[in-house]
Amino acid sequence: MVQVTYPAVSITIRTADDIDRALSRAARAVGRGARLVEWRLDELAEIPGSTNAAVELVARSPAPSIATCRSRAEGGEYDGDDSTREALYERLVLADKPPRYIDIDLAYWKRSETLRKTITAALAHCGDDPKASLMLSTHDFERRPADLLQRVEAMSNEPACSVIKIAWQARSLRDNLEALDLVTDRTKPAVVLCMGEFGLMSRVLAAKSGALLTYASVGAGAETAPGQPTIDDLLGRYRFEKIGPATAVYGVIGWPVAHSLGPVIHNAGFEKIGYDGVYLPMPIPPQFEHFKATVGSLVDHGTLTFRGASVTAPHKENLVRFVAESGGRVGDLARRLGAANTLVIDNAGRIECTNTDAPAILASLCGAMGIAPPQLRDVPIAVLGAGGVARAVIGAVADAGANVVVFNRTRPRADVLAGELRECRDAAGRPFRVSAGDLDSIADGTFRIFVNCTSVGMAGGPAPHASPLPEAVTLDESVIVFDTVYAPARTPLLDQAEAAGARSIGGLDMFLRQAALQFRAWTGRDVPMEAFRESITGRIDADPDPT
Ligand code: NAP
Repeated sequence: MVQVTYPAVSITIRTADDIDRALSRAARAVGRGARLVEWRLDELAEIPGSTNAAVELVARSPAPSIATCRSRAEGGEYDGDDSTREALYERLVLADKPPRYIDIDLAYWKRSETLRKTITAALAHCGDDPKASLMLSTHDFERRPADLLQRVEAMSNEPACSVIKIAWQARSLRDNLEALDLVTDRTKPAVVLCMGEFGLMSRVLAAKSGALLTYASVGAGAETAPGQPTIDDLLGRYRFEKIGPATAVYGVIGWPVAHSLGPVIHNAGFEKIGYDGVYLPMPIPPQFEHFKATVGSLVDHGTLTFRGASVTAPHKENLVRFVAESGGRVGDLARRLGAANTLVIDNAGRIECTNTDAPAILASLCGAMGIAPPQLRDVPIAVLGAGGVARAVIGAVADAGANVVVFNRTRPRADVLAGELRECRDAAGRPFRVSAGDLDSIADGTFRIFVNCTSVGMAGGPAPHASPLPEAVTLDESVIVFDTVYAPARTPLLDQAEAAGARSIGGLDMFLRQAALQFRAWTGRDVPMEAFRESITGRIDADPDPT
Protein backbone atom coordinates (compact mmCIF):
# COMPACT_ATOMS: atom_id res chain seq x y z
CA MET A 1 0.00 0.00 0.00
CA VAL A 2 1.73 3.22 -1.12
CA GLN A 3 0.73 6.20 0.96
CA VAL A 4 1.59 9.89 0.91
CA THR A 5 2.64 10.89 4.40
CA TYR A 6 1.39 14.32 5.37
CA PRO A 7 3.23 16.66 7.70
CA ALA A 8 0.58 17.92 10.13
CA VAL A 9 0.84 20.72 12.66
CA SER A 10 -0.96 20.34 15.94
CA ILE A 11 -2.34 23.50 17.53
CA THR A 12 -4.05 23.94 20.89
CA ILE A 13 -6.98 26.37 21.16
CA ARG A 14 -7.68 27.60 24.65
CA THR A 15 -10.42 30.20 24.18
CA ALA A 16 -12.54 31.62 21.36
CA ASP A 17 -10.25 34.65 21.46
CA ASP A 18 -7.38 32.37 20.43
CA ILE A 19 -8.93 31.54 17.10
CA ASP A 20 -7.53 34.30 14.90
CA ARG A 21 -4.04 33.86 16.32
CA ALA A 22 -4.26 30.07 15.93
CA LEU A 23 -5.45 30.43 12.34
CA SER A 24 -2.59 32.72 11.46
CA ARG A 25 -0.09 30.30 13.06
CA ALA A 26 -1.67 27.50 11.06
CA ALA A 27 -1.50 29.57 7.87
CA ARG A 28 2.20 30.25 8.47
CA ALA A 29 2.83 26.52 9.00
CA VAL A 30 0.89 25.65 5.86
CA GLY A 31 2.93 28.26 4.01
CA ARG A 32 6.06 26.46 5.15
CA GLY A 33 4.76 23.08 3.98
CA ALA A 34 2.35 21.62 6.55
CA ARG A 35 -0.40 19.73 4.72
CA LEU A 36 -2.83 19.09 7.59
CA VAL A 37 -3.74 20.98 10.74
CA GLU A 38 -4.78 19.23 13.94
CA TRP A 39 -6.99 21.38 16.13
CA ARG A 40 -6.71 20.42 19.77
CA LEU A 41 -10.06 21.52 21.17
CA ASP A 42 -9.67 20.08 24.70
CA GLU A 43 -9.72 23.42 26.47
CA LEU A 44 -12.01 25.34 24.09
CA ALA A 45 -14.66 22.61 24.40
CA GLU A 46 -14.88 23.16 28.15
CA ILE A 47 -16.15 26.70 27.66
CA PRO A 48 -19.98 26.73 27.55
CA GLY A 49 -21.32 27.72 24.13
CA SER A 50 -18.00 27.29 22.33
CA THR A 51 -19.23 24.77 19.77
CA ASN A 52 -19.87 27.48 17.16
CA ALA A 53 -16.36 28.78 17.64
CA ALA A 54 -14.95 25.28 17.05
CA VAL A 55 -17.07 24.85 13.92
CA GLU A 56 -15.92 28.25 12.63
CA LEU A 57 -12.29 27.41 13.37
CA VAL A 58 -12.46 24.17 11.41
CA ALA A 59 -14.29 25.87 8.54
CA ARG A 60 -11.57 28.53 8.27
CA SER A 61 -8.71 26.06 8.56
CA PRO A 62 -6.05 26.84 5.92
CA ALA A 63 -5.59 23.12 5.18
CA PRO A 64 -7.65 19.96 5.73
CA SER A 65 -7.90 19.42 9.45
CA ILE A 66 -8.14 16.89 12.24
CA ALA A 67 -10.36 17.87 15.16
CA THR A 68 -9.88 16.27 18.51
CA CYS A 69 -10.97 16.83 22.08
CA ARG A 70 -9.01 14.61 24.43
CA SER A 71 -9.92 14.22 28.09
CA ARG A 72 -7.46 14.19 30.97
CA ALA A 73 -7.83 10.43 31.26
CA GLU A 74 -6.75 10.20 27.63
CA GLY A 75 -3.73 12.46 28.15
CA GLY A 76 -5.48 15.69 27.10
CA GLU A 77 -6.92 18.67 28.96
CA TYR A 78 -10.70 18.25 28.55
CA ASP A 79 -12.45 18.07 31.92
CA GLY A 80 -16.09 18.37 30.81
CA ASP A 81 -18.79 15.78 30.36
CA ASP A 82 -19.13 13.22 27.61
CA SER A 83 -22.42 14.57 26.24
CA THR A 84 -20.90 17.99 25.48
CA ARG A 85 -17.94 16.36 23.75
CA GLU A 86 -20.17 13.99 21.81
CA ALA A 87 -22.35 16.89 20.64
CA LEU A 88 -19.24 18.78 19.54
CA TYR A 89 -18.00 15.89 17.43
CA GLU A 90 -21.44 15.44 15.91
CA ARG A 91 -21.73 19.14 15.00
CA LEU A 92 -18.28 19.10 13.46
CA VAL A 93 -19.00 16.03 11.34
CA LEU A 94 -22.31 17.46 10.09
CA ALA A 95 -20.95 20.98 9.45
CA ASP A 96 -20.84 22.38 5.91
CA LYS A 97 -17.08 22.39 6.14
CA PRO A 98 -16.23 19.45 8.39
CA PRO A 99 -12.74 18.43 9.48
CA ARG A 100 -11.13 15.79 7.29
CA TYR A 101 -10.82 13.60 10.38
CA ILE A 102 -12.22 13.54 13.87
CA ASP A 103 -9.84 11.83 16.26
CA ILE A 104 -11.56 9.94 19.08
CA ASP A 105 -9.80 7.98 21.78
CA LEU A 106 -10.36 4.22 21.52
CA ALA A 107 -11.16 3.84 25.22
CA TYR A 108 -13.87 6.52 24.97
CA TRP A 109 -15.23 4.93 21.81
CA LYS A 110 -15.42 1.52 23.43
CA ARG A 111 -16.99 2.71 26.66
CA SER A 112 -19.73 4.97 25.22
CA GLU A 113 -22.43 3.31 23.17
CA THR A 114 -24.19 6.64 22.61
CA LEU A 115 -20.98 8.10 21.18
CA ARG A 116 -20.63 5.17 18.79
CA LYS A 117 -24.25 5.46 17.64
CA THR A 118 -24.20 9.25 17.30
CA ILE A 119 -20.92 9.45 15.44
CA THR A 120 -21.58 6.45 13.20
CA ALA A 121 -24.91 8.02 12.20
CA ALA A 122 -23.33 11.44 11.67
CA LEU A 123 -20.56 9.99 9.51
CA ALA A 124 -23.19 8.22 7.41
CA HIS A 125 -25.08 11.51 6.93
CA CYS A 126 -22.24 13.90 6.29
CA GLY A 127 -21.70 15.02 2.72
CA ASP A 128 -19.22 13.43 0.35
CA ASP A 129 -17.13 16.44 -0.47
CA PRO A 130 -15.73 17.38 1.93
CA LYS A 131 -16.36 14.34 4.05
CA ALA A 132 -15.26 13.65 7.59
CA SER A 133 -13.75 10.31 8.58
CA LEU A 134 -13.12 8.70 11.92
CA MET A 135 -9.63 8.29 13.29
CA LEU A 136 -9.49 6.11 16.39
CA SER A 137 -6.48 6.71 18.59
CA THR A 138 -4.80 5.28 21.62
CA HIS A 139 -2.07 6.84 23.75
CA ASP A 140 0.16 5.77 26.58
CA PHE A 141 2.24 8.57 28.07
CA GLU A 142 4.34 6.26 30.21
CA ARG A 143 5.30 3.15 28.30
CA ARG A 144 4.49 0.76 25.50
CA PRO A 145 1.11 -0.60 26.58
CA ALA A 146 1.14 -4.35 27.26
CA ASP A 147 -2.07 -4.74 25.24
CA LEU A 148 -0.80 -2.70 22.28
CA LEU A 149 -1.55 -5.35 19.68
CA GLN A 150 -5.07 -5.92 21.03
CA ARG A 151 -5.71 -2.18 20.76
CA VAL A 152 -4.45 -2.19 17.17
CA GLU A 153 -6.74 -5.09 16.38
CA ALA A 154 -9.75 -3.41 18.00
CA MET A 155 -9.24 -0.27 15.89
CA SER A 156 -8.58 -2.26 12.74
CA ASN A 157 -11.78 -4.25 13.25
CA GLU A 158 -14.01 -1.23 13.91
CA PRO A 159 -16.02 -0.68 10.70
CA ALA A 160 -16.52 3.07 11.32
CA CYS A 161 -12.80 3.66 11.76
CA SER A 162 -10.90 4.89 8.69
CA VAL A 163 -7.52 5.61 10.31
CA ILE A 164 -5.82 4.07 13.31
CA LYS A 165 -3.45 6.10 15.42
CA ILE A 166 -1.20 4.82 18.16
CA ALA A 167 1.26 6.78 20.29
CA TRP A 168 3.28 5.66 23.26
CA GLN A 169 6.19 6.89 25.31
CA ALA A 170 9.30 5.22 23.94
CA ARG A 171 11.78 3.89 26.44
CA SER A 172 14.50 3.18 23.90
CA LEU A 173 15.20 3.76 20.22
CA ARG A 174 14.05 0.20 19.59
CA ASP A 175 10.42 1.19 20.19
CA ASN A 176 10.61 3.17 16.96
CA LEU A 177 11.27 -0.01 15.04
CA GLU A 178 8.05 -1.57 16.31
CA ALA A 179 6.23 1.64 15.38
CA LEU A 180 7.54 1.42 11.82
CA ASP A 181 6.61 -2.27 11.63
CA LEU A 182 3.07 -1.61 12.86
CA VAL A 183 2.52 0.88 10.04
CA THR A 184 4.06 -1.47 7.48
CA ASP A 185 1.74 -4.28 8.61
CA ARG A 186 -1.38 -2.11 8.71
CA THR A 187 -4.76 -3.07 7.30
CA LYS A 188 -5.96 0.56 7.34
CA PRO A 189 -4.19 3.88 6.95
CA ALA A 190 -2.21 4.28 10.15
CA VAL A 191 -0.23 6.70 12.26
CA VAL A 192 2.12 5.09 14.78
CA LEU A 193 4.33 7.40 16.80
CA CYS A 194 6.67 7.16 19.73
CA MET A 195 6.74 10.02 22.21
CA GLY A 196 9.57 11.46 24.26
CA GLU A 197 13.27 11.90 23.60
CA PHE A 198 13.63 8.41 22.10
CA GLY A 199 10.69 8.82 19.74
CA LEU A 200 11.84 11.34 17.14
CA MET A 201 12.85 8.58 14.74
CA SER A 202 9.28 7.29 14.40
CA ARG A 203 8.06 10.83 13.70
CA VAL A 204 10.65 11.77 11.09
CA LEU A 205 10.67 8.34 9.44
CA ALA A 206 6.86 8.07 9.22
CA ALA A 207 7.14 8.27 5.44
CA LYS A 208 9.49 5.29 5.29
CA SER A 209 6.71 2.96 6.37
CA GLY A 210 3.93 4.84 4.58
CA ALA A 211 2.14 6.31 7.61
CA LEU A 212 -0.75 8.63 6.84
CA LEU A 213 0.80 11.58 8.63
CA THR A 214 3.22 12.79 11.24
CA TYR A 215 2.73 15.61 13.71
CA ALA A 216 4.84 18.69 14.31
CA SER A 217 4.47 21.77 16.46
CA VAL A 218 4.16 25.29 15.10
CA GLY A 219 7.22 26.32 17.09
CA ALA A 220 9.45 25.48 20.04
CA GLY A 221 7.38 25.36 23.24
CA ALA A 222 4.11 24.76 21.36
CA GLU A 223 4.34 20.95 21.31
CA THR A 224 1.08 19.11 21.94
CA ALA A 225 2.89 15.84 22.73
CA PRO A 226 6.35 15.09 24.13
CA GLY A 227 9.04 14.85 21.47
CA GLN A 228 7.22 16.59 18.62
CA PRO A 229 9.67 18.38 16.31
CA THR A 230 8.80 21.84 15.11
CA ILE A 231 7.43 22.03 11.57
CA ASP A 232 10.57 23.98 10.58
CA ASP A 233 12.86 21.24 11.87
CA LEU A 234 10.75 18.49 10.35
CA LEU A 235 10.66 20.02 6.89
CA GLY A 236 13.93 21.92 6.95
CA ARG A 237 16.49 20.13 9.09
CA TYR A 238 15.12 16.62 8.44
CA ARG A 239 13.90 17.19 4.85
CA PHE A 240 10.72 15.26 5.62
CA GLU A 241 9.26 15.57 2.15
CA LYS A 242 12.31 13.88 0.62
CA ILE A 243 12.03 10.80 2.84
CA GLY A 244 10.63 7.64 1.31
CA PRO A 245 10.85 3.86 1.71
CA ALA A 246 14.37 3.69 0.27
CA THR A 247 15.87 6.59 2.23
CA ALA A 248 19.07 5.56 4.01
CA VAL A 249 19.09 6.34 7.73
CA TYR A 250 22.06 7.76 9.66
CA GLY A 251 22.41 9.33 13.05
CA VAL A 252 24.50 10.55 15.91
CA ILE A 253 24.71 8.03 18.72
CA GLY A 254 25.65 9.35 22.15
CA TRP A 255 24.33 10.25 25.58
CA PRO A 256 23.25 12.99 25.52
CA VAL A 257 22.88 13.98 21.84
CA ALA A 258 20.13 16.60 21.90
CA HIS A 259 22.55 19.47 21.22
CA SER A 260 24.56 17.74 18.52
CA LEU A 261 25.16 19.75 15.37
CA GLY A 262 25.42 16.49 13.43
CA PRO A 263 21.80 16.55 12.18
CA VAL A 264 22.20 20.13 10.99
CA ILE A 265 25.37 19.60 8.98
CA HIS A 266 24.86 16.10 7.62
CA ASN A 267 21.29 16.70 6.48
CA ALA A 268 22.48 19.92 4.83
CA GLY A 269 25.21 17.88 3.15
CA PHE A 270 22.68 15.31 1.89
CA GLU A 271 20.59 18.14 0.50
CA LYS A 272 23.60 19.71 -1.17
CA ILE A 273 24.55 16.57 -3.10
CA GLY A 274 20.98 15.32 -3.62
CA TYR A 275 21.57 12.18 -1.53
CA ASP A 276 18.62 10.05 -0.40
CA GLY A 277 19.52 9.99 3.28
CA VAL A 278 18.38 11.39 6.61
CA TYR A 279 20.41 11.88 9.78
CA LEU A 280 18.84 11.82 13.24
CA PRO A 281 19.82 12.17 16.90
CA MET A 282 20.00 8.66 18.38
CA PRO A 283 20.27 8.74 22.17
CA ILE A 284 21.54 5.50 23.72
CA PRO A 285 22.24 5.27 27.48
CA PRO A 286 25.91 4.79 28.43
CA GLN A 287 26.17 1.06 29.15
CA PHE A 288 27.59 -1.31 26.52
CA GLU A 289 24.56 -3.60 26.81
CA HIS A 290 22.25 -0.74 25.74
CA PHE A 291 24.56 0.11 22.87
CA LYS A 292 24.83 -3.47 21.67
CA ALA A 293 21.10 -4.22 21.87
CA THR A 294 20.05 -0.97 20.21
CA VAL A 295 22.64 -0.75 17.45
CA GLY A 296 22.20 -4.47 16.75
CA SER A 297 18.44 -3.96 16.28
CA LEU A 298 18.94 -0.96 14.01
CA VAL A 299 21.47 -2.80 11.85
CA ASP A 300 19.34 -5.96 11.61
CA HIS A 301 16.00 -4.25 10.93
CA GLY A 302 14.60 -5.32 7.58
CA THR A 303 13.27 -2.04 6.20
CA LEU A 304 15.03 0.69 8.19
CA THR A 305 18.06 0.80 5.84
CA PHE A 306 20.28 1.99 8.66
CA ARG A 307 23.55 2.80 6.91
CA GLY A 308 25.73 4.52 9.46
CA ALA A 309 26.27 6.71 12.45
CA SER A 310 28.52 9.23 14.09
CA VAL A 311 29.34 7.86 17.51
CA THR A 312 30.22 10.22 20.31
CA ALA A 313 30.72 10.13 24.08
CA PRO A 314 30.39 7.81 25.90
CA HIS A 315 30.22 5.18 23.16
CA LYS A 316 33.45 5.46 21.15
CA GLU A 317 35.01 2.46 22.91
CA ASN A 318 31.70 0.59 22.82
CA LEU A 319 31.59 0.96 19.05
CA VAL A 320 34.95 -0.79 18.60
CA ARG A 321 33.89 -3.60 20.94
CA PHE A 322 30.51 -4.01 19.26
CA VAL A 323 31.92 -4.18 15.74
CA ALA A 324 34.69 -6.58 16.78
CA GLU A 325 32.25 -8.87 18.62
CA SER A 326 29.85 -8.79 15.65
CA GLY A 327 32.58 -9.95 13.28
CA GLY A 328 32.71 -6.60 11.48
CA ARG A 329 35.78 -4.72 10.33
CA VAL A 330 37.54 -2.41 12.79
CA GLY A 331 39.73 0.15 11.03
CA ASP A 332 43.44 0.01 11.88
CA LEU A 333 43.56 3.36 13.70
CA ALA A 334 40.31 2.64 15.59
CA ARG A 335 41.76 -0.71 16.71
CA ARG A 336 45.02 0.81 17.88
CA LEU A 337 43.29 3.69 19.71
CA GLY A 338 40.51 1.47 21.04
CA ALA A 339 38.00 4.15 19.98
CA ALA A 340 36.00 4.87 16.85
CA ASN A 341 33.53 7.60 15.95
CA THR A 342 32.14 6.34 12.65
CA LEU A 343 29.93 3.36 11.90
CA VAL A 344 29.34 2.31 8.31
CA ILE A 345 26.90 -0.40 7.22
CA ASP A 346 27.00 -1.49 3.58
CA ASN A 347 24.06 -2.68 1.52
CA ALA A 348 24.85 -6.30 2.39
CA GLY A 349 24.62 -5.47 6.11
CA ARG A 350 28.39 -5.70 6.74
CA ILE A 351 29.54 -3.32 9.45
CA GLU A 352 32.74 -1.37 9.82
CA CYS A 353 33.99 1.25 12.25
CA THR A 354 36.66 3.84 11.71
CA ASN A 355 38.14 6.81 13.49
CA THR A 356 37.81 10.12 11.67
CA ASP A 357 38.67 12.20 14.77
CA ALA A 358 42.41 11.55 14.55
CA PRO A 359 42.90 12.39 10.85
CA ALA A 360 40.71 15.49 11.28
CA ILE A 361 42.73 16.69 14.28
CA LEU A 362 46.00 16.12 12.45
CA ALA A 363 44.75 17.81 9.28
CA SER A 364 43.52 20.80 11.24
CA LEU A 365 46.64 21.21 13.36
CA CYS A 366 49.22 20.37 10.70
CA GLY A 367 47.32 22.31 8.02
CA ALA A 368 47.45 25.46 10.15
CA MET A 369 51.13 24.86 10.95
CA GLY A 370 52.02 24.14 7.33
CA ILE A 371 53.62 20.80 8.20
CA ALA A 372 52.93 17.12 7.49
CA PRO A 373 51.89 14.86 10.43
CA PRO A 374 55.25 13.01 10.57
CA GLN A 375 56.82 16.36 11.45
CA LEU A 376 55.05 16.16 14.80
CA ARG A 377 57.50 13.40 15.80
CA ASP A 378 59.15 14.31 19.13
CA VAL A 379 57.30 17.66 19.30
CA PRO A 380 56.43 18.40 22.95
CA ILE A 381 52.69 19.01 23.28
CA ALA A 382 50.72 20.02 26.38
CA VAL A 383 47.11 18.85 26.38
CA LEU A 384 44.75 20.54 28.84
CA GLY A 385 41.85 18.32 29.89
CA ALA A 386 41.35 14.60 30.26
CA GLY A 387 37.88 13.96 28.80
CA GLY A 388 36.70 12.56 25.49
CA VAL A 389 38.19 15.25 23.28
CA ALA A 390 41.53 15.04 25.09
CA ARG A 391 41.58 11.30 24.40
CA ALA A 392 40.98 11.91 20.69
CA VAL A 393 43.59 14.67 20.46
CA ILE A 394 46.25 12.71 22.33
CA GLY A 395 45.52 9.62 20.24
CA ALA A 396 46.02 11.63 17.07
CA VAL A 397 49.21 13.47 17.94
CA ALA A 398 50.81 10.58 19.87
CA ASP A 399 50.13 8.32 16.89
CA ALA A 400 52.13 10.82 14.82
CA GLY A 401 55.01 10.51 17.32
CA ALA A 402 54.52 13.62 19.46
CA ASN A 403 55.58 13.65 23.09
CA VAL A 404 52.44 14.51 25.07
CA VAL A 405 51.91 15.66 28.64
CA VAL A 406 48.30 15.76 29.90
CA PHE A 407 47.26 18.38 32.45
CA ASN A 408 43.89 18.31 34.11
CA ARG A 409 42.10 20.06 36.94
CA THR A 410 41.46 16.62 38.40
CA ARG A 411 44.92 15.11 38.30
CA PRO A 412 43.94 11.43 38.82
CA ARG A 413 41.87 11.58 35.65
CA ALA A 414 44.94 12.72 33.71
CA ASP A 415 46.95 9.85 35.21
CA VAL A 416 44.34 7.30 34.15
CA LEU A 417 44.07 8.69 30.63
CA ALA A 418 47.85 8.85 30.15
CA GLY A 419 48.17 5.31 31.49
CA GLU A 420 45.53 3.99 29.08
CA LEU A 421 46.99 5.74 26.05
CA ARG A 422 50.51 4.53 26.84
CA GLU A 423 49.13 1.07 26.05
CA CYS A 424 48.52 2.15 22.44
CA ARG A 425 51.00 1.56 19.61
CA ASP A 426 51.59 3.59 16.48
CA ALA A 427 51.47 2.03 13.02
CA ALA A 428 55.10 0.90 13.39
CA GLY A 429 54.38 -0.75 16.76
CA ARG A 430 56.07 1.94 18.92
CA PRO A 431 54.32 2.78 22.20
CA PHE A 432 52.68 6.20 22.52
CA ARG A 433 54.62 8.73 24.56
CA VAL A 434 52.10 10.16 27.00
CA SER A 435 52.53 11.24 30.61
CA ALA A 436 50.50 13.28 33.08
CA GLY A 437 51.69 16.48 34.69
CA ASP A 438 50.67 18.86 37.46
CA LEU A 439 48.83 21.95 36.22
CA ASP A 440 50.86 24.01 38.70
CA SER A 441 54.07 23.02 36.91
CA ILE A 442 52.89 23.43 33.32
CA ALA A 443 54.98 26.62 32.93
CA ASP A 444 58.13 24.61 33.68
CA GLY A 445 57.81 22.62 30.46
CA THR A 446 59.03 23.70 27.04
CA PHE A 447 55.97 22.98 24.96
CA ARG A 448 55.69 23.93 21.34
CA ILE A 449 51.94 23.32 21.16
CA PHE A 450 49.21 23.81 23.75
CA VAL A 451 45.85 22.16 23.06
CA ASN A 452 42.80 23.03 25.11
CA CYS A 453 40.46 20.06 25.48
CA THR A 454 38.60 21.36 28.53
CA SER A 455 35.19 23.05 28.43
CA VAL A 456 36.74 26.27 29.70
CA GLY A 457 35.95 29.12 27.30
CA MET A 458 32.90 27.37 25.85
CA ALA A 459 29.73 29.45 25.62
CA GLY A 460 27.27 28.19 28.21
CA GLY A 461 30.02 26.06 29.79
CA PRO A 462 31.48 26.19 33.30
CA ALA A 463 33.78 29.19 32.64
CA PRO A 464 32.81 30.90 29.36
CA HIS A 465 34.99 33.97 29.91
CA ALA A 466 38.10 32.23 31.23
CA SER A 467 41.24 30.82 29.66
CA PRO A 468 42.26 27.30 30.73
CA LEU A 469 45.96 28.20 30.54
CA PRO A 470 47.55 29.13 33.90
CA GLU A 471 48.90 32.70 33.95
CA ALA A 472 52.46 31.48 34.58
CA VAL A 473 52.64 30.13 31.03
CA THR A 474 54.33 32.60 28.68
CA LEU A 475 53.18 32.51 25.09
CA ASP A 476 55.14 33.92 22.16
CA GLU A 477 55.46 33.55 18.41
CA SER A 478 57.27 30.20 18.73
CA VAL A 479 54.16 28.61 20.24
CA ILE A 480 50.97 27.24 18.71
CA VAL A 481 47.69 27.29 20.63
CA PHE A 482 44.91 24.99 19.48
CA ASP A 483 41.56 25.45 21.20
CA THR A 484 39.19 22.58 20.42
CA VAL A 485 36.28 24.65 21.77
CA TYR A 486 34.41 26.08 18.77
CA ALA A 487 31.43 27.77 20.35
CA PRO A 488 32.19 30.64 20.35
CA ALA A 489 34.49 30.69 17.35
CA ARG A 490 36.77 33.13 19.21
CA THR A 491 37.52 31.98 22.73
CA PRO A 492 39.36 33.87 25.50
CA LEU A 493 42.30 31.45 25.00
CA LEU A 494 42.55 32.29 21.29
CA ASP A 495 42.47 36.00 22.15
CA GLN A 496 45.20 35.47 24.73
CA ALA A 497 47.34 33.55 22.21
CA GLU A 498 46.95 36.13 19.48
CA ALA A 499 47.71 38.99 21.86
CA ALA A 500 50.98 37.25 22.75
CA GLY A 501 51.89 36.72 19.09
CA ALA A 502 51.34 32.93 19.21
CA ARG A 503 49.68 31.15 16.29
CA SER A 504 46.10 30.19 17.17
CA ILE A 505 43.79 27.51 15.78
CA GLY A 506 40.07 27.25 16.58
CA GLY A 507 38.11 24.01 16.99
CA LEU A 508 35.54 24.42 14.22
CA ASP A 509 37.84 23.22 11.44
CA MET A 510 38.52 19.98 13.34
CA PHE A 511 34.81 19.41 13.92
CA LEU A 512 33.89 19.99 10.28
CA ARG A 513 36.75 17.84 8.99
CA GLN A 514 35.80 14.78 11.04
CA ALA A 515 32.22 15.20 9.85
CA ALA A 516 33.35 15.53 6.23
CA LEU A 517 35.33 12.28 6.51
CA GLN A 518 32.23 10.54 7.89
CA PHE A 519 30.13 11.99 5.09
CA ARG A 520 32.53 10.57 2.54
CA ALA A 521 32.57 7.16 4.26
CA TRP A 522 28.76 6.97 3.99
CA THR A 523 28.04 8.58 0.64
CA GLY A 524 31.30 8.08 -1.27
CA ARG A 525 31.12 11.80 -2.02
CA ASP A 526 32.88 14.89 -0.77
CA VAL A 527 30.63 17.63 0.52
CA PRO A 528 31.85 21.15 -0.08
CA MET A 529 33.03 22.29 3.37
CA GLU A 530 31.22 25.55 2.69
CA ALA A 531 27.89 23.69 2.75
CA PHE A 532 28.73 22.41 6.22
CA ARG A 533 29.88 25.83 7.36
CA GLU A 534 26.79 27.57 5.98
CA SER A 535 24.48 25.11 7.73
CA ILE A 536 25.76 26.13 11.15
CA THR A 537 26.21 29.83 10.51
CA GLY A 538 24.65 31.69 13.40
CA ARG A 539 24.10 28.47 15.33
CA ILE A 540 27.35 27.74 17.09
CA ASP A 541 27.41 30.96 19.03
CA ALA A 542 23.74 30.51 19.89
CA ASP A 543 23.94 26.89 21.04
CA PRO A 544 25.85 26.59 24.29
CA ASP A 545 26.63 22.90 24.02
CA PRO A 546 27.16 21.69 20.50
CA THR A 547 29.11 18.45 20.09
P1 NAP B 1 34.43 16.01 28.92
O1 NAP B 1 34.73 14.59 28.57
O2 NAP B 1 33.28 16.30 29.79
O3 NAP B 1 35.74 16.65 29.60
C1 NAP B 1 35.71 17.97 30.05
C2 NAP B 1 37.12 18.38 30.48
O4 NAP B 1 37.06 19.78 30.82
C3 NAP B 1 37.64 17.63 31.69
O5 NAP B 1 39.02 17.45 31.58
C4 NAP B 1 37.30 18.60 32.82
O6 NAP B 1 38.13 18.48 33.93
C5 NAP B 1 37.58 19.92 32.16
N1 NAP B 1 36.87 21.02 32.81
C6 NAP B 1 35.54 21.23 32.86
N2 NAP B 1 35.28 22.35 33.55
C7 NAP B 1 36.47 22.87 33.93
C8 NAP B 1 36.85 24.03 34.66
N3 NAP B 1 35.94 24.89 35.13
N4 NAP B 1 38.16 24.25 34.85
C9 NAP B 1 39.08 23.39 34.38
N5 NAP B 1 38.78 22.28 33.68
C10 NAP B 1 37.49 22.02 33.47
O7 NAP B 1 34.21 16.87 27.61
P2 NAP B 1 34.80 16.61 26.15
O8 NAP B 1 33.82 15.77 25.39
O9 NAP B 1 36.18 16.15 26.25
O10 NAP B 1 34.69 18.07 25.52
C11 NAP B 1 35.55 19.11 25.95
C12 NAP B 1 35.34 20.35 25.09
O11 NAP B 1 35.75 20.07 23.76
C13 NAP B 1 33.86 20.73 24.94
O12 NAP B 1 33.55 21.66 25.93
C14 NAP B 1 33.75 21.33 23.55
O13 NAP B 1 33.80 22.74 23.62
C15 NAP B 1 34.97 20.82 22.84
N6 NAP B 1 34.63 19.93 21.70
C16 NAP B 1 35.22 20.18 20.51
C17 NAP B 1 34.95 19.34 19.44
C18 NAP B 1 35.59 19.61 18.10
O14 NAP B 1 35.39 18.82 17.18
N7 NAP B 1 36.33 20.68 17.95
C19 NAP B 1 34.09 18.25 19.59
C20 NAP B 1 33.52 18.02 20.83
C21 NAP B 1 33.79 18.87 21.89
P3 NAP B 1 37.77 17.50 35.14
O15 NAP B 1 38.23 16.14 34.72
O16 NAP B 1 38.56 18.06 36.28
O17 NAP B 1 36.30 17.58 35.36
